[in-house]
Amino acid sequence: MSEFSLELDDDHAQVQKWLHDFAEGVMRPAAHEWDEREETPWPIIEEAAKVGIYSFDFIANAFVDPAGLLMPIINEELCWGDAGIALSILGSTLAVAGIFANGTPEQLMEWAPQCYGSPEKIQLGAFCVSEPDAGSDVSNLRTRAVYDEATDTWTLNGTKTWITNGGIANLHVVVASVDPELRARGQASFVVPGGTPGIRQGQKFQKMGIRASHTAEVILEDCKVPGSCLLGGKQKLDERLARAREGTRSSSQAAMATFEATRPSVGAQAVGIARAAYEYALQYAKERQAFGRAIVENQGIAFKLADMKTAIDAARLLVWRAAWMGATKKPFVAGEGSMSKLFAGETAVWVTEQAIQIMGGYGYVRENPVERWHRDSKIYTIFEGTSEIQRLVIARAISGHRIP
Ligand SMILES: Cc1cc2nc3c(=O)[nH]c(=O)nc-3n(C[C@H](O)[C@H](O)[C@H](O)COP(=O)(O)OP(=O)(O)OC[C@H]3O[C@@H](n4cnc5c(N)ncnc54)[C@H](O)[C@@H]3O)c2cc1C
Repeated sequence: MSEFSLELDDDHAQVQKWLHDFAEGVMRPAAHEWDEREETPWPIIEEAAKVGIYSFDFIANAFVDPAGLLMPIINEELCWGDAGIALSILGSTLAVAGIFANGTPEQLMEWAPQCYGSPEKIQLGAFCVSEPDAGSDVSNLRTRAVYDEATDTWTLNGTKTWITNGGIANLHVVVASVDPELRARGQASFVVPGGTPGIRQGQKFQKMGIRASHTAEVILEDCKVPGSCLLGGKQKLDERLARAREGTRSSSQAAMATFEATRPSVGAQAVGIARAAYEYALQYAKERQAFGRAIVENQGIAFKLADMKTAIDAARLLVWRAAWMGATKKPFVAGEGSMSKLFAGETAVWVTEQAIQIMGGYGYVRENPVERWHRDSKIYTIFEGTSEIQRLVIARAISGHRIP
């Protein structure tokens, strides 16, 4: 009988320390500059590649961690350093997750390393699902993939929006509809390798936060890829479509399980930002004097900090639970992956706002990082499923009812 423990083992603790040092020594000092520049921080990604953080091997190792904790540890530490830069480093992982979830092992080994390149030649990956008229409602995708049997070629047409690394990535994973009548169950994922004609960047967005992470439209115009770029292969797709036409439910349930398994990583990112803001505000509250004493000696400030720390620790526990459930293949009977992302995202927004309040005017100006952390935190109630969509998933799971 194994003992219950929340203590990190030596391997996890070592990786955490290594990433923390990188976050503190390399990312933190660069964070303000890249937020202001609103550009992909190539030199920092190169640094991450040189030390082995930006590499497929490192991420692959995290994917197969039996405890499931490596992924949340990576995400929390890097986002403690800076969420915008962290998303530039971690954005390629989204594409890898798309390949991992739908591709064959051979496709994973062929395409995933191309999402990273090498320290000498950095490459990026992008995962393209969202469209102007299909964000939360992913069943409504308009991007079409049409197969030509004679040439074994797929032709993709459509517009993707809000895509992290969109248009600057070397490899795009594109989710498209192959049978619009089947809605979500008539979709498939395709790899669009670098250099393929017919794919280009549209508008690049200017954002409120995570501004060091590139977000843009991706436009597909008669973009042709060979049959081998269909993730999972044609036979598996045909079988899945046949099952969907018969009304069998298994494929959409499989997709839901994949989302539940990846959401804790996003929750961990939010925990990292919240922790950064809490630590900064705590230190400030101990140093700042008002009315002849440190402001932390007022219950109004000290209790705020107590609530911030409690919420952050609770968020991390939800994240670790869901990550462990994903790694050990426990069924997400109550939407536990969504719970972790929902609570961590809302916590990050609330904690960073409290941190600004604790710092008064000093929290509101750009020479201190807490206003940036607050701007960065807001995305965690929006992307990878909004807070409302997380509540929908949890509500459906716990009630068993089809809540619209
Ligand atoms: C910076 C950034 C990076 C992103 N990166 C990527 C990426 O790499 N790849 C990718 O594919 N996408 C990406 N996205 C897209 C992101 O996942 C979507 O923005 C998100 O899913 C919400 O979709 P939407 O913006 O269309 O909002 P909508 O779906 O239009 O939602 C608007 C509002 O209505 C609410 N709402 C909608 N339906 C319901 C309902 N049934 N019940 C209750 N409330 C509801 C929502 O919660 C939200 O508050 C990114 C977005 C941003 C901003």
